[in-house]
Amino acid sequence: MSDAEAETTFRKLRWPETDGEPVCPHCGGLKAYDCRRPNGAPRFECRACGKDFSITSGTLFASHKLPLRAYLGAIAVFCNEVKGKSALALSRDLGISHKTAWVLLHKCREAMAAEMKGRVVGGDGKVAEIDGGYFGGYVKPANLKEHRIDRRFTSNQSGKRQCVVVVRERNGNSVPAVFRSEGHALSFIRSRIAKGTVVNADEGNAWNDLQGQFEMRRVNHQEAYSLAGACTNAAEEYFSRLRRAEIGHHHHIAGAYLLRYAQEASWREDHRRASNGDQVNRLAGLALKAKRSVDFCGYWQRGKAA
Ligand SMILES: [Zn+2]
Repeated sequence: MSDAEAETTFRKLRWPETDGEPVCPHCGGLKAYDCRRPNGAPRFECRACGKDFSITSGTLFASHKLPLRAYLGAIAVFCNEVKGKSALALSRDLGISHKTAWVLLHKCREAMAAEMKGRVVGGDGKVAEIDGGYFGGYVKPANLKEHRIDRRFTSNQSGKRQCVVVVRERNGNSVPAVFRSEGHALSFIRSRIAKGTVVNADEGNAWNDLQGQFEMRRVNHQEAYSLAGACTNAAEEYFSRLRRAEIGHHHHIAGAYLLRYAQEASWREDHRRASNGDQVNRLAGLALKAKRSVDFCGYWQRGKAA
């Protein structure tokens, strides 16, 4: 794709209501002077307020350094994968540094997350499933048998293990969040499942307290995976994808960014039947509708000032 084509695509995604004609992000003005930079980078000056802006000003890709083509390329490569994409692999695909690729991928995840912000699933006559899965905090067993400790005790654990809990409507959308344990997720679950939904869960004790609010169907996985219509297979499907992203691409997903990986898996799961082109357009559109990155705005300058 040429630079001009990438520019046209970005303009249409950023300003769909004017078919790609620039709209000032400062005052909403519809008339702008074309002030292209000497290197060819598109730039505009608002006729109403006189402020300067680019196609990505005020979006997730604000103050971008790479050509626009690279961002579209990254989104296309990212969407082509089904479980995830490692930053190292992306850096090789696009000829950019690992750090640039890593930040770019996290911005894509942030855009995906924007879609599930405040999402409530279910409703009257609908069915939702909940489940939890643990990530991170792995304690490696010692080499010699006599040095090994019982890793089931809390005192022998690293304390870094976190629980991803997913709420998923059957044949519908999902929304994940990260907690210390399944038991800490109850108010999240209550706020993300609409009244009147039938909630499916496994035999875990943590879910017992939800009985008062929802009609629950429980399935004991030691007896069956699905019994009398009760199952959590859709939630398990989600964890299958997230676990494969961990094993196959990232090797280790934990810590501060675990939620972003969980949201990525959720987005991929919800849009798994959409065509590749639709996924790319949707994700690029989300990135250009999102505000400046909360995670990575000024990321490069961090640690330099103080
Ligand atoms: Zn303006």
